Amino acid sequence: MGNKERIIQVAWKKWRLIFDKALPRDTDGSTDPPTKKRKSIRIKDNLVGQEFLETYLHETHHAGNDSICEDYVEQIAHDQAASFCYRDCIERFLGCPRIVAMVEEILDSRKK
Ligand SMILES: [Zn+2]
Repeated sequence: MGNKERIIQVAWKKWRLIFDKALPRDTDGSTDPPTKKRKSIRIKDNLVGQEFLETYLHETHHAGNDSICEDYVEQIAHDQAASFCYRDCIERFLGCPRIVAMVEEILDSRKK
């Protein structure tokens, strides 16, 4: 599934986004403190769909503000992911030609 690592920006700082196969069984993601050098956000490599989106949002919330409490991060990431994963939002997301081109390329590569 795609590249395993790339650089992303969260709240003006750079992070290595790593899709990680080696995270502990009970861990879907982890984020280094924003003060660390060569900091990374790790997302369990096999997450998909709403579970992937929730973890991505969760970890990037931590990256953007590491002083917000875990309960809040868990709740807002869950609510955002759950409310996004409906046809009305997915249709609007796919209303972007750049996104559609990427999705078509991904689906074509799966046929090979
Ligand atoms: Zn957390």
